[in-house]
Amino acid sequence: GSTIGIIGGGQLGRMLAMAAARLGYRTVILEPLENCPAAQVANEHIVASYDNPNALEQLAELCEVITYEFENVPVDSAETLSEIKPVYPSPEALKVSQDRLVEKRFLNKAGIQTAQWLSVENEGDLEAALLAFGGKGILKTRRFGYDGKGQVRFSGDKGEDAKNGFSAIGSVPSILEAMVEFVCEISVIAARDEAGNIKVYDIAENVHKDGILATSTVPVSVSSTIAGLAADAARKLLEGLDYVGVVGMEFFVLANGTLLANEFAPRVHNSGHWTEAACATSQFEQHIRAITGLPLGDTRRHSDCVMENLIGDDIDRVAEILKEPGAVVHLYGKGEARPGRKMGHVTRITKRL
Ligand code: ATP
Ligand code: MG
Ligand code: MG
Repeated sequence: GSTIGIIGGGQLGRMLAMAAARLGYRTVILEPLENCPAAQVANEHIVASYDNPNALEQLAELCEVITYEFENVPVDSAETLSEIKPVYPSPEALKVSQDRLVEKRFLNKAGIQTAQWLSVENEGDLEAALLAFGGKGILKTRRFGYDGKGQVRFSGDKGEDAKNGFSAIGSVPSILEAMVEFVCEISVIAARDEAGNIKVYDIAENVHKDGILATSTVPVSVSSTIAGLAADAARKLLEGLDYVGVVGMEFFVLANGTLLANEFAPRVHNSGHWTEAACATSQFEQHIRAITGLPLGDTRRHSDCVMENLIGDDIDRVAEILKEPGAVVHLYGKGEARPGRKMGHVTRITKRL
């Protein structure tokens, strides 16, 4: 069989490696951390930083195709690799997704509506942007934010000041987003192959706690019209980027039925973990299929379900959860259960269709 390279050694890399193995592929992980979740299941582990030239050359030599499990892979590394072997999703998709300013511009240009936003380079920009948005908004660093990190909220209270807000996120280039009063959050997992075929999974409804995804529920409570709009936006994004692989795209739904895109991730997505329990083809297998030129798999759902992330101490409940009928448990092989650390997830089948 042939070999797939995966940059990044977290749980997403681990689940990609498992899906690859089931389809007869070997996997090589590039990850500086020795005991990472993905290295426990991959065939080989190159222990080096994501921008180590020798490691990149080695990875490209060992693999027929290269992918990644997180959006902060250095674009230079992806470009270097792509001169030797295909890198999917493309370095361009990676570049757009890892900078919120570039991402928002790309979405808006593609005709995909987002929350209002303004670029913030300094305190003065932040003051002006807050004024424009009635004192309310969320300041987000352009790069390296995840799980709600690198964000400061302004609720419009008098005590808040732009100076502290900007320094609180490290005084780095940022954007201020208008505060969205959403009725719910939804996401789409979709895939596109090299030939341009697209498959979209059913939309999930997501609840976040402390900025971290807590649950994803399928089906959603919103209308099929809104779900359809989300799927259309994902198709636009995939086509606009000439994308190959799985994408995860997050949205806010407003009371008047308006859909606003929040962000996309050029990879398998936490809100798509339910697909492994409720679809013939999981998002992980779908990604492997898309990047290796295999036919895209069936995205139909055979069950209603709720995916719950097991974060930190939640892991202590696993023995109990394992007793539940219809609970599909997936653990990531991480040692220490620190607060906020994603240790695993469980998908509960709530109804067979
Ligand atoms: P992820 O872990 O999904 O990559 P992230 O750190 O990139 O998260 P966002 O997705 O931008 O951050 O925001 C995290 C959560 O904060 C959102 O899912 C949503 O609940 C809330 N949020 C973000 N932006 C806004 C907004 N403009 N208005 C209201 N709520 C927001
Ligand atoms: Mg994000
Ligand atoms: Mg998000």
